[in-house]
Amino acid sequence: MAMTPHSPLASNLTARERILVIYTGGTIGMQQHADGLAPGGDFANRMATALSQLPLTQQQSLPSYKVISYAKLIDSSAATPLTWQQLARDINDQLTAYAGFVIIHGTDTLSWTAASLAYQLQGLDRPVVITGSMLPLESQGSDALDNLHGALQFAAKPVLQEVAIYFARQLLRGVRAIKQHSEAANAFASPNYPLLGERVGDDFIYYPSRGLGLQQRGAPRFELPDYNLVNQGEIVRIPLWPGISAWQLDAWLSDSRVNGALLQLWGAGNLPDDPSLLDVLARASGEGKLLAAISQCPQGSVHLGAYAAGYGLSDAGVLAGDDMTPEAAFTKLAHLLAQPLALEDQRQLFLTSLVGER
Ligand code: ASP
Repeated sequence: MAMTPHSPLASNLTARERILVIYTGGTIGMQQHADGLAPGGDFANRMATALSQLPLTQQQSLPSYKVISYAKLIDSSAATPLTWQQLARDINDQLTAYAGFVIIHGTDTLSWTAASLAYQLQGLDRPVVITGSMLPLESQGSDALDNLHGALQFAAKPVLQEVAIYFARQLLRGVRAIKQHSEAANAFASPNYPLLGERVGDDFIYYPSRGLGLQQRGAPRFELPDYNLVNQGEIVRIPLWPGISAWQLDAWLSDSRVNGALLQLWGAGNLPDDPSLLDVLARASGEGKLLAAISQCPQGSVHLGAYAAGYGLSDAGVLAGDDMTPEAAFTKLAHLLAQPLALEDQRQLFLTSLVGER
């Protein structure tokens, strides 16, 4: 049965701890090894030690939690669609035993994992909060403790019912986020959607009117398809550059292993005024490949046809990704192609907002 924001989640629980923390690796848990930083083990104890440094009142308000670590800890540059699939299945398997989930992940591809989980865990009725840090847990001035603290606090709020990212005092919709900075603590942004919540002083404030909890009601209807084909390169991502030639585009799109492509156009949906580019796109669409377009600009939306040069895109079968992030658009193509759907249904679902991604 679907949880309402006020339902007593605790009564549903079978585990003693309220939150399940899944540690996948990333800088947050890295330790110095002979050949440089690499993911370190014993995260449960290290996390407990870090949290014991919080002021007593903050420690007392932490939810109880249990940590599980993946056997193979990774730098998130090694994450693949199969990693996304594994995480979704693990959350699905443990769903009713915990009131919320915290995923500890490297920051480099964290927003990709977040976007993919959002599609796989549709109708989620409790929080899944992903976090990491820019500096390792035990480093001087690390952001890890603050991020863990906030992630646990938001994961304990039953009113949050979606996949979110907590980072640098901000709670972002997972499928709306991008990594925007390679060094600063404030590394994530949600360019086209407001914050779902934030830390204000010592309080963790959630804005329910912005959350999926109020926007989508119903029981979890997880879709956990097999991502193996996507993992073998079924989708390509092609940002335009000045001087792009039709043969280059064709080299990607005519490959029979490619069934989908995400184009990143200029501005509001512009591309060079070269009919042979549109021919390549039309041919690929005609072969049943799923083509979508977003902008290279992180903010704003594409409007296919706003410029003469981009006018032929819709005719060539290219779907407008509106203001979706690259992560949201790519993982959505991946998710739709992984299911046994007719092409028309895939196209229609791509244009529909499934989890507040557009
Ligand atoms: N290279 C790291 C990773 O993505 C960066 C980080 O964790 O912040 O795993």
